[in-house]
Amino acid sequence: MRPTLTLYCKQCQVWRRLPFEPRFTGSELKHQSMCPKCQAALSGKRGGFDAEGRQIGCGWCESKDLYRRKAFPKGQGIGIVVVAAAATLVLAWQEIQPPWLVYVPLVGAALADAVLYFVTPDAICCYRCPCVHQGYPLGREFAPYDHAKADQIRLEKGAQKASA
Ligand SMILES: [Zn+2]
Ligand SMILES: [Zn+2]
Repeated sequence: MRPTLTLYCKQCQVWRRLPFEPRFTGSELKHQSMCPKCQAALSGKRGGFDAEGRQIGCGWCESKDLYRRKAFPKGQGIGIVVVAAAATLVLAWQEIQPPWLVYVPLVGAALADAVLYFVTPDAICCYRCPCVHQGYPLGREFAPYDHAKADQIRLEKGAQKASA
């Protein structure tokens, strides 16, 4: 899987997930991605990566405040549960025998969720901007999401805005 980064296109005013490889020529990053809609050159920032292309910070805002989470596509886990619940209702309604068969979809859903959890790669997210990084070799440790830290950063940002 090619590593991807979400990059903000100013012209389209949207974040786009694009393949981006942090290769450097001198101090400049090569522009290796472009907006698929407006063709604007989009590129991550040098401060997000070390000389070997490993991720050490945010590839967009160069912040060092990042956290790790599972890169579940939104709604995937919920989808499994909804399907399992529906299957259970159908089985219960049909008074299937033996009665314990009714619970098979729920157990299956729990197993599927557990498997997904293990096979889903981590995504590295930024506390300060919506940038999400996936598939990069890591140049340092990234801790899981920390609510207290997120709150503190939000307060800091608020204070900066107020004083600006
Ligand atoms: Zn664009
Ligand atoms: Zn960022």
